[in-house]
Amino acid sequence: MKFLGKKFEGKVIYTGEIDVLFDSCYGDLPYRSLRFEYENYKKEYFQETAMTSYPNNYDFTRTTETKHMTGQDSKTTTVIYEYPQKYERNVPGKDVPYYPIPNRENRERYEKYKKHAENYENIILIGRLARYLYYNMDQMIKLTLDTFEEKIK
Ligand SMILES: Cc1cc2nc3c(=O)[nH]c(=O)nc-3n(C[C@H](O)[C@H](O)[C@H](O)COP(=O)(O)OP(=O)(O)OC[C@H]3O[C@@H](n4cnc5c(N)ncnc54)[C@H](O)[C@@H]3O)c2cc1C
Repeated sequence: MKFLGKKFEGKVIYTGEIDVLFDSCYGDLPYRSLRFEYENYKKEYFQETAMTSYPNNYDFTRTTETKHMTGQDSKTTTVIYEYPQKYERNVPGKDVPYYPIPNRENRERYEKYKKHAENYENIILIGRLARYLYYNMDQMIKLTLDTFEEKIK
C-alpha cells in the first residue's frame, strides 16, 4: 500500500464501503438508503415517544421527535419523517449507504472483497459498511474495543 507515493507500513482503519475501497473490482455491493423530511408543528409535542415505527400503512416508516431525547423547552416541535430510498452512488440525496442488504448473492460478493483485503495485512476493516453487516451501536462499540485490544494495542 502506498501513501504520497511511498510504501505505507502503518495500520489503516477503514470504516467505509468495502467495494469502494477496491474500486468495485468484483462489482458494486447494494445498499439501502433513506430520505428524511423535517416538519415543524406549532404545538409542544407531536407524539408520545421519541420514535414511532410505521411498518405498514404509510410511505414513511418512522417518525422521530428528538425533543423527547434532548429535553428542549419550546412551544413548537420538529418531527423527522423517514422514507425508504433506493441507494444510488454519486446521486446527491440518494448516495448515503445506510444499510447493507443481506442475502446470499451479496454475501458471496462481500466474501470476495474480504478475501482480497487479506492481501493487505495492515488494513483493519471495521463497521457496518466495511463488514457489510448491520450492527446496533452497542455491538459496534464492543467490536471496536475488541478490535483495538486485538490488533492495535
Ligand atoms: C437510520 C438509522 C437508525 C439507527 N438507529 C439505531 C438505534 O436506534 N440504535 C442503535 O443501536 N443503532 C442504530 N443504528 C445503527 C448505528 O447507526 C450503527 O450501529 C453505527 O452507526 C455503526 O457504526 P459504524 O462505525 O459501523 O458506522 P458509521 O457510524 O456509519 O461510521 C462510518 C464512518 O466511516 C466514514 N466513511 C464512510 N466512507 C468512507 C470512506 N470511503 N473513507 C473514509 N471514511 C469513510 C463515514 O463518514 C462515517 O464517519 C441506526 C442506523 C441508521 C442508519
